[in-house]
Amino acid sequence: MLGLMQYHPLMISSAIEFAANYHGDTEIVSRRVEGDIHRTSYAEVNRRAKRIANALDAMQVARSARVGTLAWNGYRHFELYYGVSGSGRVLHTVNPRLHPEQMAWIINHAEDELLCFDITFLPLIKAIAGHCPGVKHWIALCDADKLPADTGVANLLSYEAWIGAASDQYAWPVFDENLASSLCYTSGTTGNPKGVLYSHRSTMLHAMAAGSPDVMGLSSRDCVLPVVPMFHVNAWGLPYLMAMVGCKVVFPGAQLDGKSIYELFESEQVNFSAGVPTVWQMLIGYLEANNLSLSTMKRTVIGGSACPPAMMDTFREKYGVTVFHAWGMTEMSPLGTYGTLKGKHELADWPTQRALLLKQGRPVCGVDMKIVDPEGNALPHDGKVSGDLMVRGSWIVKEYFKGEGGQILDHEGYFSTGDVANIDADGFMQITDRSKDVIKSGGEWISSIDVENIAMAHPAVAMAACIGIRHAKWDERPILVVVKKPNTDVSAREILQFYDGKIAKWQVPDDVQFVDAIPLGATGKMQKAKLREMFVNYALPQ
Ligand code: AMP
Repeated sequence: MLGLMQYHPLMISSAIEFAANYHGDTEIVSRRVEGDIHRTSYAEVNRRAKRIANALDAMQVARSARVGTLAWNGYRHFELYYGVSGSGRVLHTVNPRLHPEQMAWIINHAEDELLCFDITFLPLIKAIAGHCPGVKHWIALCDADKLPADTGVANLLSYEAWIGAASDQYAWPVFDENLASSLCYTSGTTGNPKGVLYSHRSTMLHAMAAGSPDVMGLSSRDCVLPVVPMFHVNAWGLPYLMAMVGCKVVFPGAQLDGKSIYELFESEQVNFSAGVPTVWQMLIGYLEANNLSLSTMKRTVIGGSACPPAMMDTFREKYGVTVFHAWGMTEMSPLGTYGTLKGKHELADWPTQRALLLKQGRPVCGVDMKIVDPEGNALPHDGKVSGDLMVRGSWIVKEYFKGEGGQILDHEGYFSTGDVANIDADGFMQITDRSKDVIKSGGEWISSIDVENIAMAHPAVAMAACIGIRHAKWDERPILVVVKKPNTDVSAREILQFYDGKIAKWQVPDDVQFVDAIPLGATGKMQKAKLREMFVNYALPQ
């Protein structure tokens, strides 16, 4: 017997329509790349998102066509989140920190038809436009008078002129909730970057779960500053969740240094934020150097990389900020676990609570987790035994965009995260290692394979392995371990110079170490775990 309740597809547009109707005057504050502070409201964001929808219709951009963005966190990017997805197109957020070649590859793979970019990225657009023949329009997120005359980029428009010519009258369409809404690429696995294609349904379910009290617990009374970029897994779902609760929003733009974030926290009375450890490192450094305190900031989510214990302690003891440790990944929209204590832990002493809070958190309802041994057998949740962490749920990837990577789920529908973890009886999960060969520096991936392949092309390199080394600011930095070819000589500097122009500067290893042999497994595969052990006492050059 079927239930007798109404069925309304879960539509992303419903979040902004709700916010416009019931929190219409709530402020959306942005530090713009133009340098000033801009103020708008949910009502205005909804109106302008409708203009985007009409402007896309006028260009005859088909349903499910991809519209790319290359932009920092700001109100225009926020409008695009709703205007593009709400009208049935797919928002593809491109990471501007990638090397231009990687960026062009991703834009072409996604088949972006439009690319909307912060005007500060114009030099980048000039460099890649010729390599992206599928992009029909390049749209600079600025006023018409800010657009230079001779850019050499064909079909370049100003966003304000483009949407200014369109009506703000538009009825958000209702369609199948399983249709794609946004696309985000991850290089967290082997080979080329892979696209994760979210749907309206997965996005809305994820945001609803993220807002619940044991997770982010946001409300209309909060003022949220998402430091996590909108090109990283939809800023962890915050652009949707914030509209769903109608909280005040503060977008930091391109300036993520300690001073800029501190100033916005204080001037806008922010009480909730979210970001990777590196940004908090910069904020704490600034607060300490200038003997400052935080007057309204109360809670922050730290994820993307493990939260260092000292960071959690400093936030709590010196600044009265509670840190919530969260774990997830692009393939998971991203939330998998969140570090809130249970009722039974509330009376526990601080060392006990601290030990729990430093774990990666416990599952959000809607995410099933298991840990398995190398044969795929489930391991106990005793907080001791570690295994490969696998997940399944309604906001977790089923397959990558265009089927890249083939079948990615096990026989029970679980996706392998590439993280190694233990889980205790209460569900608190703790990451103990990573089985995937990637390095995460300041919240951004560095593909060890890309780094190795470039080194292997050097005439003096017989074998090269790239591993991550702990780093106080960036969490991890890559180093390259090299076996030289017989009768050749090459210096570390020469090898590092070999990377010039081939990958982004921040992806180039910090050092090269020469060894006689790299440990290999039975199948000839490099044993990175053994290599990491060999370099456990190694200190990065300062
Ligand atoms: P991404 O797809 O870029 O969001 O990266 C996901 C990966 O980042 C995970 O599989 C982990 O390896 C790592 N990660 C995310 N959050 C945490 C965390 N809280 N602690 C440790 N590693 C994390």
